[in-house]
Amino acid sequence: MGPVLAIVGRPNVGKSTFFNRLTESRAAIVESTSGVTRDRHYGESDWNGIPFSVIDTGGYVIGSDDIFEEEIRKQVNLAIDESDVIVFVVDVETGITGMDEDVAKILRRTKKKVVVAVNKVDNNQRIHDAQEFYGLGLGEIYCISSINGSGTGDLLDAVVKEFPEQIETEEEDDDDIPKYAVVGRPNVGKSSLINALIGKERNIVTPIAGTTRDTVNTRYNSFGFDFTLVDTAGLRKKAKVNENIEFYSVLRSIRAIENSDVCLLLIDAKEGFEGQDQNIFHLAQKNRKGVVIIVNKWDLIDKETNTHLDFEKKIREKIAPFTDVPIIFTSVLNKQRIFKALEIAHQVYKNKSTRISTSELNDVMLPIIEKTPPPSGSRGRYIKFKYVTQLPTKFPAFAFFCNFPDEVKDAYARFLENQIREKYGFTGVPVQIYFRQK
Ligand code: GDP
Ligand code: GDP
Repeated sequence: MGPVLAIVGRPNVGKSTFFNRLTESRAAIVESTSGVTRDRHYGESDWNGIPFSVIDTGGYVIGSDDIFEEEIRKQVNLAIDESDVIVFVVDVETGITGMDEDVAKILRRTKKKVVVAVNKVDNNQRIHDAQEFYGLGLGEIYCISSINGSGTGDLLDAVVKEFPEQIETEEEDDDDIPKYAVVGRPNVGKSSLINALIGKERNIVTPIAGTTRDTVNTRYNSFGFDFTLVDTAGLRKKAKVNENIEFYSVLRSIRAIENSDVCLLLIDAKEGFEGQDQNIFHLAQKNRKGVVIIVNKWDLIDKETNTHLDFEKKIREKIAPFTDVPIIFTSVLNKQRIFKALEIAHQVYKNKSTRISTSELNDVMLPIIEKTPPPSGSRGRYIKFKYVTQLPTKFPAFAFFCNFPDEVKDAYARFLENQIREKYGFTGVPVQIYFRQK
């Protein structure tokens, strides 16, 4: 889990615009609450090769001045709790407002690093106007224009400098012990599943001290499987902040995903596979994690012939084109198929770690390519494959060497991926295909 940047500030200063600039085209999760509160956003970004997460805290009530102060205070406290660096966005067009003063007052008291971004400085004249923001008493100010991007580089240089040193803990982890994360929307049965997995037979082997700021990995041995459950600390403590539960739980899922090998994505059989489930699925996929979809509360469904097949089909339609994912139906309440879930998770972990030798790959794949070659490239170029090799990555990735790598179509990459899946069983694992020139 990389460092976290939180964006705070009163409405209309340009927080979302700034957020979008940082997270453009990357996975973002929106917590759409009821229509009255502003969405919170979570996304991924990087600056000079340093990856980090961005939270746009939002969450306040739209158009209701009375509660603003209270809501802003909550937003700022959330940022203080959840981030490493806070970017406090203010607006040069309005100058310092009373609400800015209130936020600054809270921020001056925190030990967290705060960087002031004076937004909407679209031209040089406005740099002059921006000087008044030194009056906030938060040190250096950074003039930016979120709309045209100017100044954001200097701001990010300042932000990145404040990130805590990333302690490299990979080596300390028991690398051959699978790390599982139980993820999903609130109320789908995550805690129940975790309790069922580690409850009575609970056998904690070693608590591995937080590999990152907020995650705790605990090693268990139950039902004959050795595994590490990735969990995030502090959630229970924070659970008293009732109105933020949904957001915390989404954040918690995200962090758990980043730290896991395989995600057990729980969904509620009664609710089906919906938008947020899809978001979490894609996040796992983008992070190149293994996935098992667990349809929980299956006891609540009236079953007829094919009920589960129909259900399965609907899910696969929604996760296409990555459909080679195990889907199982559980009732954690009745302790149904919990062992099976662990067994499948373990299989996915093994699939993810599969290594195929270059000679074996070539023996199998080159004849397939010969039999079904790619369509020729532009100007009738004949695309000739020389050899295939698996890359030494933590997830399965294959490089196909050929004369015109840029001319191979996506459809052919999918064809090759499917052939590899068929031959070697990568169920539940994203597989990456690259074309390269020798
Ligand atoms: P938020 O409520 O803080 O998330 O603010 P938004 O990102 O929704 O922006 C509020 C308004 O300010 C929108 O109309 C934006 O187009 C505008 N805005 C945002 N950034 C800039 C900027 O750098 N320059 C100017 N001129 N307008 C901006
Ligand atoms: P979490 O928010 O995802 O951790 O969900 P919980 O584990 O707290 O479960 C939410 C609710 O669903 C609780 O009332 C559980 O008793 C209930 N629940 C969990 N699993 C099942 C199940 O398999 N069947 C039924 N009927 N209810 C379940």
